Amino acid sequence: MVSYYKKCPYCGRAMEKGSIPPGRYSLKWKSDYENRSSLNYMFNFDKRDVKLSSVWGEICCTAYLCRVCRKIIIDV
Ligand SMILES: [Zn+2]
Repeated sequence: MVSYYKKCPYCGRAMEKGSIPPGRYSLKWKSDYENRSSLNYMFNFDKRDVKLSSVWGEICCTAYLCRVCRKIIIDV
């Protein structure tokens, strides 16, 4: 396993590497872009959403945690 760490952009401390595995459903980040139509919001025709992890396992959601700042940074 590659051991590298990310620095927290808020406090500069080393972040803990981890992942956010999917539960019963895939995870995605939904864009709040203000001019999105509801169809784009529902079906992501405009490709603004980012798929984070999938129940079929082809995408692994790697995430870095800073316990001091209570922030999580996610690789997309
Ligand atoms: Zn921090």
